[in-house]
This record gives sequence, C-alpha cells and structure tokens, in this order.
Amino acid sequence: MNFYIMTLFPDMVMSGLRTSILARALGNGYINIEAVNIRDYAGNKHNKVDDYTYGGGAGMLMQAAPVFDCYNAIVEKIKSRNSDANPRVVYVTPQGSVFNQNMTREFSKEEDIIFLCGHYEGIDERVLEEIVTDYVSIGDYVLTGGELPAMVMIDAISRLVPGVLNNEESAQTESFDDGLLEYPQYSRPEVWREKRVPKVLLSGNHENVDVWRFEKSLERTKERRPELYDKYVQEHPEQFTGKSLKKRKRILDKIAEAEQT
Ligand code: SAM
Repeated sequence: MNFYIMTLFPDMVMSGLRTSILARALGNGYINIEAVNIRDYAGNKHNKVDDYTYGGGAGMLMQAAPVFDCYNAIVEKIKSRNSDANPRVVYVTPQGSVFNQNMTREFSKEEDIIFLCGHYEGIDERVLEEIVTDYVSIGDYVLTGGELPAMVMIDAISRLVPGVLNNEESAQTESFDDGLLEYPQYSRPEVWREKRVPKVLLSGNHENVDVWRFEKSLERTKERRPELYDKYVQEHPEQFTGKSLKKRKRILDKIAEAEQT
C-alpha cells in the first residue's frame, strides 16, 4: 500500500513513521510512505504558502494553489503506475468524522491513499472542495497541525496491510476486533508485588481461558465504554440468552471455584 502525505513538515512525519514495526514493513516493501513538502509548490521565491484570511480574524491560512499543485504532482505519479487510479484524499481535520477501527479496515483496502495535513488556521476551502474525498478527525480537540493525526491514521491502517504484522503479532485479537475492548493480559512473573496471575490462565484449558477472556472483555467494555457494550448486546443477543449463556455461566462458576483453592 502506498501512502502519500502532503505536509509542511515532511521530516517530522517520516522520522515518526520510520520506527519499529513500520520501519520493518517499509524495509520489506509491504508499505511505502512518501511525505511531499507542499512548500515545494509555493511558486514564489520566499516559498510562502500561507496568507491572511478574507473577512479578517487572527491567523494565517494555507493557500489553495500550492496544495492543488502538490496534489496534482502526486496524482500524476500514481497514474504513471496505474492510469485508472483515483486515489482517496483524506484531509485530517477536527471537523471530520472521528477515526475508528472500521475506517482503518476500509482505508487498508486502498492501493494508494493521500493524506493532507493542514497547519495554521487550516486550508483555503476552495481547494478542499476540489480534491478531498474524506474529512477525518482524531478526536474533539484542536492540534497545531495535521501531521500527528496523519501519523496516527497511517500507523493504524498499516497494521492491517497483509504482511506488516508478523504471525505472532497478528494472531492476537485486539480491542474493537469484535466490537469489545480487549481482556486484561499478564506476562511473567506469576506473582508480582503479591498480585497473582489469574489461575485460569495457567490451567492450559483453552475453553476456560476463552470464556474467562470473553467475560473480562464484556466487563471491561461495560465499565469503560458503555455505549460500545450496549451496541454489542444489541447486535449479539444470542450471547445473553439460552444455552450459550448457561454454558458460559457454568464454566465461569468453575473458574471462580478454582480461583478460591
Ligand atoms: N481552524 C481549524 C478549525 O477550527 O477547524 C483548525 C485548524 S488546526 C489549528 C490546524 C490543522 O491541524 C488542521 O488544518 C488539521 O489538519 C489539523 N488538526 C487539528 N486538530 C485535528 C484533529 N483533532 N484531527 C485531525 N486533524 C487536526
């Protein structure tokens, strides 16, 4: 998958993304990340890409032309590889839909994707109307620039690109995979500051471990993200009635009993 980032701070983006798992994925060619400096398309000798806003008000705005020319250069490059390409352009903005794991899955299916990072007061509306396909936020707060949001999204999307995670990493279930938060996890030692790892995790009984983890996921989601829990209950009524509930309760009783001994 090819990521293109339109930014005023290419070094910031690349140094953050060329680390750990993504560095390995870049090295192995599973992903490609190119940060393109919008300033290179300023078209004036001072490389100026911002100006005052019409109508007054504090702050500068990124101008339409450099952003548009930068976008066209990227699209030309993509089309030289695949003439049918029509890449999505994600403007990272606090005014967008809030990024989530479903979007991550959707974006990870693209071959090419372009991220547009704003700065200052943002970007001239006219160029946004021309090129942007998706407006996406990382939360209801305002940052100084779009570089961190773009990095967050690229990290989350890359994890889902085949090959990026090795078997050990990808075999794990994660929060949101099934609409619930992940259960608590433990590693060695078995006892730390008098806190014991739950016995069921040492039992080797996979069915019991699965039931315990599922119950902990339910409890944790109900406590920390009640709106996600309600949605899960609505979408999976079979888990909360009849045979499957009875069986789960029976196993949980046994686990609780074993924990006391
Ligand atoms: N004037 C804009 C507004 O009120 O919506 C905010 C501009 S902000 C200071 C500068 C840039 O940071 C934005 O153009 C956007 O690219 C990025 N940004 C800030 N907060 C963000 C967020 N929560 N999610 C995604 N991008 C954000």
